[in-house]
Amino acid sequence: MSSRVTVEYDPELLALARRAKQVAVITGAGISSESGIPTFRGAGESGALWKNFRAEELATPQAFARDPELVWEWYDWRREICAASEPNKAHEVVAAMDAHYENFLLITQNVDNLHRRAGSRRLYEIHGNIFRGRCVQTGRSFDLPAPPLDPLPPRSPFADAPARPDIVWFGESYDQEMLGACLDFLAECELVFVIGTSGMVPIPIYLADHARKHGAVIVDVNPEVSGATEIAAHYWQGRAGDALPPFWEQI
Ligand code: NAD
Repeated sequence: MSSRVTVEYDPELLALARRAKQVAVITGAGISSESGIPTFRGAGESGALWKNFRAEELATPQAFARDPELVWEWYDWRREICAASEPNKAHEVVAAMDAHYENFLLITQNVDNLHRRAGSRRLYEIHGNIFRGRCVQTGRSFDLPAPPLDPLPPRSPFADAPARPDIVWFGESYDQEMLGACLDFLAECELVFVIGTSGMVPIPIYLADHARKHGAVIVDVNPEVSGATEIAAHYWQGRAGDALPPFWEQI
């Protein structure tokens, strides 16, 4: 079903998007929902419920310590969904921005690999990538074989130790070096798009606000009012796949 989109083709915004030299995009689960990957939140959505567990009950170090097999099974289920999904038009626009702008950075909370598959090259996956595992002993990450994993849970290829998903879980800290690089880049940005993030995880809004305080114009793209809406100069109320392509055609 296609939602009605009111894209605000503000002439000043179009002019800014055409002349800008430094642009960032911050994405959340919403940009992948049109590819068929469930978000965790959003009105009327069932979310990524699996065997009646909510994500917050499984994506934690405590859950992994209690039952690693269960957590790996959940990730294997999600990996299957991600592997069977295709990047959508919004991912393609973000990849086109990467190719177009001199200085560009994509900061994604998504772990689904769809941005890379769409062609994005300059990106930070601040929550990790579902197709990678991490050795619990050495901290080194590695590519996982295609799902379904066998054995499950997988072992580390680097040490006689178990592996965990290479994901930043609820309650864990971010890679500070990566975050610092994001903040430095955002401080120099003229334009920042925040796409499909609820703001329930606060870091993307913090990052966007940092850019705004340093002079960037913020565009929030989301069918629902989000944590980014109030700091955005432009709110495009609609689905990313509807709102972004007609805008980008004019750049
Ligand atoms: P979220 O699940 O909290 O919120 C999703 C947001 O996307 C909502 O605000 C919703 O209104 C919006 N949305 C839904 N459909 C949209 C569309 N077609 N276009 C634009 N926006 C749309 O997602 P979040 O803020 O990213 O936070 C959840 C965390 O869970 C993330 O940090 C992420 O790491 C993880 N997660 C990742 C994936 C993925 O990799 N695809 C999926 C689910 C959750």
